Amino acid sequence: MDHLEKMGRSPRDISLLILTHSHPFDHIWAAESVVEASGCKVAAAHEMEVSWIEDVDLQARQRPAPGLQSLVEGSVKVDRPLKEGDLLELSGLSLKVIHTPGNSKGSIPLLLQEDCVLITGDAVPVKGELPIYNDALKSGRSIEKLKALEGIQVLLSAWDEPREGSQIERIMAEGQKYISRIHKAVLKVSNGFH
Ligand SMILES: [Zn+2]
Repeated sequence: MDHLEKMGRSPRDISLLILTHSHPFDHIWAAESVVEASGCKVAAAHEMEVSWIEDVDLQARQRPAPGLQSLVEGSVKVDRPLKEGDLLELSGLSLKVIHTPGNSKGSIPLLLQEDCVLITGDAVPVKGELPIYNDALKSGRSIEKLKALEGIQVLLSAWDEPREGSQIERIMAEGQKYISRIHKAVLKVSNGFH
């Protein structure tokens, strides 16, 4: 909210909050405060993850990540569940929803069509950071799907600084290699326990 004020804007200027997926902390952590302060609607994550956003306790039971509840302020009602191909019209701009399972089953990058900007959430992991995924193979296939999008000018990822031009393909290819390397290492270690 302080940041909004510094920009000369008010929470009341927010009419829609879009959540790319249900993971806590850097994705849905402050959703409750934003909704409370702005009265905005919530469009969220692929419909597969809506129940985890609307009921954080359910997410904690079904996905028992350590300290999950302390990383989320609270649950929010999702006014508009999203799915592959949906188009969000925002005062003259259109955001296309792309479904990329892997990081979570319902992760949705968003493509700002007019400016060819791709907002990926967590769909593309960054080398050297802690990759989070529920299905590494699907995650790799999802990055392939994003690589196939034509004419992307700017890549905005939750894990990385904004990337432009030829950097975009490199970052996606590195992310793919990285997740496959991590997955192989995980399999090797977990097989060692059997
Ligand atoms: Zn995530």
